Amino acid sequence: MEVEGNFEDLGLNQWILDHLNHLGFRRPSPVQFNCIPPALQGRDCFGCSKTGSGKTAAFALPVLQKLSEDPYGVFCLVLTPTRELAYQIADQFALLGKPINLQHTVVVGGMDTLQQAAALKKRPHVVIATPGRLADLLRSSEGNVNLKKIKFLVLDEADRLLDKLDGDFSEDLDVIFEALPKERQTLLYSATLTDTLNELQELSTKKPFFWEAEKTVSTVDQLDQRYILLPEHVKDGYLVYICKDLMEKSPNHSIMIFTKTCRNCHVLGMLLQKAGFDCVVLHSGMKQRQRLSALARFKSSNIRLLVATDVAARGLDIPLVQVVINHNIPGLAKNYIHRVGRTARAGRSGMAISLVTQFDIHRVQSIEEHINTKLKEYDVDEDEVLRI
Ligand code: ADP
Ligand code: MG
Repeated sequence: MEVEGNFEDLGLNQWILDHLNHLGFRRPSPVQFNCIPPALQGRDCFGCSKTGSGKTAAFALPVLQKLSEDPYGVFCLVLTPTRELAYQIADQFALLGKPINLQHTVVVGGMDTLQQAAALKKRPHVVIATPGRLADLLRSSEGNVNLKKIKFLVLDEADRLLDKLDGDFSEDLDVIFEALPKERQTLLYSATLTDTLNELQELSTKKPFFWEAEKTVSTVDQLDQRYILLPEHVKDGYLVYICKDLMEKSPNHSIMIFTKTCRNCHVLGMLLQKAGFDCVVLHSGMKQRQRLSALARFKSSNIRLLVATDVAARGLDIPLVQVVINHNIPGLAKNYIHRVGRTARAGRSGMAISLVTQFDIHRVQSIEEHINTKLKEYDVDEDEVLRI
């Protein structure tokens, strides 16, 4: 991973430095180096850096430090667009906050509401939530949830949370923001923040510290980005071919396949199983327990193939993912950036393969312009494809 300076230079307490050392975090990534000091000084921070560059610790460490200095005062709310990401952030907080016995709870849809309301009443230090369920708890009387003591508000994948076109969270967010104190510190992070900067500004009452890794939002250098141009009707055959090809080259590959709809996801899952692959699927039409169990099996590398919708496009950090396959081409370049950002994380290498039909060519061109990189052709053995 790209690094800058030392953790010792950031104003972090000794217990955090010792713990980071213990966890093998030797040096800070640029977003950590630049955003931790202003956050520790109490400033609102907006941080924009590439996928896999350590944004979670950039917001978690200042929160944990403040918490260790004032164990009764600090109460942090982290909002994030997807349930799986909420659990992942909770795990990261638990790991980084272990020396101070951090109390946290996750509030997401699809899980027991009463249990979540009860957990919130115990006043955990950190609440990690998706907007829908938290807003429901605030609206309902059973919730009786009080967020007035919150000192930190974190929005991870902030642009997605505020994006009104791509699944609108705004009604839920209005309810949540209404329940928060005006006097608080706000930390916002994403790999694609710049488009929504105006909406974000409204969240900060003070002049925020804005930090961007570089001017053009893009994908990481260690990512090998490929495409295959093909007619629509042979896509699935090629998908099976690519999976076979990759598994033969390296049986330890974990592969994420992104597709557009829940239905496609389901069908592709069945197709790959028929073709002899063990695979799991992840989409919003599944029960939450099934979603979590599918992801857990994929994370533990019991299963090497995951077919998912964009519900898995943001934030998920699964080090074993070496390849991302785009079964469809996202309409927005930023969605492409997040999908392919599931691989080549924290300095590792990875590959993205996009299946491109003649109808997608303009989309690919716009993505290429956006990321300032030309996709290269993926080498296909046509004879092998025909055999499938
Ligand atoms: P982002 O949110 O920017 O996509 P994450 O916060 O998910 O990235 O971090 C990516 C991975 O890098 C995680 O597995 C995390 O534990 C690891 N990581 C974060 N900071 C460091 C560091 N300073 N040194 C080593 N590994 C790190
Ligand atoms: Mg993240």
